[in-house]
Formats: sequence, structure tokens, C-alpha cells
Amino acid sequence: MKALGPIPPGFEANPEGRLLIGGWDVEALVAEARGTPLFVYDTRRVADQAARFRAAFPGVALHYAVKANPYGPLLEAMATMVDGFDVASAGELGRVAHLGLPISFAGPGKRDQELETAIRAGITINLESEGEAERALAICAREGLKAKLAVRVNPPFGLKGSGQKMGGLPSQFGIDHDRAPALVRRIVEAGADWRGLHIFAGSQALHADALIDLQRETVVLAAAIAEQAGQAPPEINLGGGFGIPYFAKDDRLDVDAVGTALANTLAERPKILSETKFAIELGRWLVGEAGVYLTRIVDRKESRGRTFLVTDGGLQHQLAATGNFGQLLRRNYPVAIASRFGAESVEEATITGCLCTPLDLLADEAMLPMAEVGDLVAIFCAGAYGLTASPTAFLSQPMAREMLV
Ligand SMILES: *Cc1c(COP(=O)(O)O)cnc(C)c1O
Repeated sequence: MKALGPIPPGFEANPEGRLLIGGWDVEALVAEARGTPLFVYDTRRVADQAARFRAAFPGVALHYAVKANPYGPLLEAMATMVDGFDVASAGELGRVAHLGLPISFAGPGKRDQELETAIRAGITINLESEGEAERALAICAREGLKAKLAVRVNPPFGLKGSGQKMGGLPSQFGIDHDRAPALVRRIVEAGADWRGLHIFAGSQALHADALIDLQRETVVLAAAIAEQAGQAPPEINLGGGFGIPYFAKDDRLDVDAVGTALANTLAERPKILSETKFAIELGRWLVGEAGVYLTRIVDRKESRGRTFLVTDGGLQHQLAATGNFGQLLRRNYPVAIASRFGAESVEEATITGCLCTPLDLLADEAMLPMAEVGDLVAIFCAGAYGLTASPTAFLSQPMAREMLV
């Protein structure tokens, strides 16, 4: 038997035993969407997370990192909850440009056309290299435009104990911290509108202490760069990295502790940052637990003493739940039989997708209620890095549906 991850708090069943999402019976949602597989995103859960952030970080701007989930109706709903969008391509920019919020554009490999689009749109470009800076400045000179440019810094430290360590290493992201002051001076001298610094040092942190240390180090580094550049930064994007629990024994991040510590750090910040506005950019933490992936069991079979529940979904839509999205070890996500939610777990079963590859495992040797062909399976924590982070063309299976409730 292998443990399942923790189901996010607050999910309940109706009297028929079916899972409710945003108050709706999963079968009603599937009928509305005209079938499975289906991603359902619960607006109220996203709004609750945004409210938690506001309570914990008064005065700090909240940005949404669009790459976590770029579903159009979700972005529209989020435009009323956050202060800005962070995009990582011109394609993502196109998805939020009409929503009227400030936008920043990070990411390596921005093409000239993308830079020009961003400059014309008046959004902030987080520069990833000196070469990119020169290309942006050349576009401005050629077209008679003024760009909003921020410098993304590759810091000498990283996020300790996080899923993905960034920082303190050679990287395609950002400019090594010791070269940042010179680039800031170059941008200012070239007449661009220097917007400040962007320092993003890791993802999926579950321990408040690691984030507290990281944010303290980030503010100290930003001040040092500003001093050396001789320029006060209008804005500092502190990155994000707030994680959510996916697996058994994962902790839940104490955001209130992080917020209290950041308030103390900012209260004591160096003078050169006294007028600076601070932002935090979050993807996963805002939307991850708001999403549920629903898929239907199409076969139940026994093989050499093991029970398999084969569904119409799989890694083509929800790669991360199968352990193939950069995880070193495969562990079970939070998964339930949505048609029998809360029923007693009585058998060990393995839930698979419908792809012809043994990688397509949604829950391995999990204790579950007795499930039948036709039952719905719910994969929780599917709101971030789900459909658009999965190889949807693999095996030419139908696209998953998406729905906002
Ligand atoms: C991906 C990304 C994020 C969002 O990370 P999460 O772990 O989803 O919060 C934020 N900022 C940048 C620059 C990113 O590339």
C-alpha cells in the first residue's frame, strides 16, 4: 500500500456520496461539460487564497504567474483579485493584455518580435541577460520607443529545501548578481524607464523558515545592487516560491509567519529602498488547490493479484500527477473515487490513464473504496501546471475539457 497525498481541506460529498466542487455535484459538472476528462477550477478557492495573501502581506502587491494556469475564464476572474500578471511569452501576454492590469514579462529566449510587442504594449520586461538588454534598447532606438525595463537577478543564494532549487548556480535565468549594477547603469544611461529588480530564487517551498531567509537575503541583495548602481529601484519583485502540499507528510506553508517576517524585514530596510514598492508573484499557491481533474473509470481488471482501475484520462492532461514532471521519485497525488467520496477505503487498487505507456499511473497501490466501471476519479491539486504543462498531443487522445465554477 502506498499513501495518497492530502486532499485540500473543505471538500465534501452530497447525500448520494458524490464529491462536490464549488457546491456542485461532480456528475452535474461533467454533464454540463459534456463529458470527461474535465478540469474544474473553483473561483472561490482562488479568491480565498488571494484573501489569505492580503491578510498576511499588507502593502505588498500580489502578481499572478500566468504559466501556472492560463485558462481564459480563470484569468478574467483573477483580474479582480490580483494587482498584476507575470507572463513568460508573448502568447501569455496576449491572454492577459486586455484585462487592464500591470504586466511584467520574464523568461529566457525572448525574440525581438516579442520584445517589440512588449515595449509597444508598455509592459515591464524583466531582462534575462545583457544581450537581451541590448536588443531591447536597439528596438527602442530604431522605433523611437521608450521601454520599461527591470533587471532579473541571478542571486548568489537559493531557496533551501525547495522542490526546485534555483539561484547560487549558473543559470539561463537572470543576470549574475555581481553584473547587475552595471546593467542598471547602462539601462538608465540609455534613457529607458528602469523599473527595478526581479529576484526569483525557487519554487514549491513548504517551510516558512526557508522563505523568510530567502526574502531577507533578497532585500539585502537588492539594496546592495541599488547602492552600487547609484539608483533607487521603483519596484522590487521578490519572486514567489510558495508551495502547496501534494504528497503524504508534506507540510502546509505558514504564510502568516512569512508575512510577519517580511513586514519586519521591510520595516528595517536600507534607506535606498525606502520609496520602493514590493511585489510577490505566485502561481501554484494561488490556483493549485482550486483545480480538480475528473476522469471516468472505463475498465476494472485484475492482474496477478493486483486490481487496476483504467480511466479515460492520464498523463496527456495531468503529467505532474503521474510523477513525470521533473519529480525524482514517483509519489501519489491526492486522489479519490469522486462517485464514492468519503466511503470507506476497502481495497488496494492502482489507477491508470488510458495511454500505452507504464508511465501513465495516476495512483499506485492506493487504498480506495470499491470502485466500478463508470465511477468518476478525482485528482486534486490539479489547478497549476496541469493541462498546459502536459503532453496533450501524445497518443492522439481527445483534449481535456476545462470549466470554471
Ligand atoms: C514559474 C514562475 C513563477 C511561478 O512559480 P510558482 O511555483 O507556480 O509560484 C513565478 N515567477 C517566475 C519568474 C516564474 O518563472
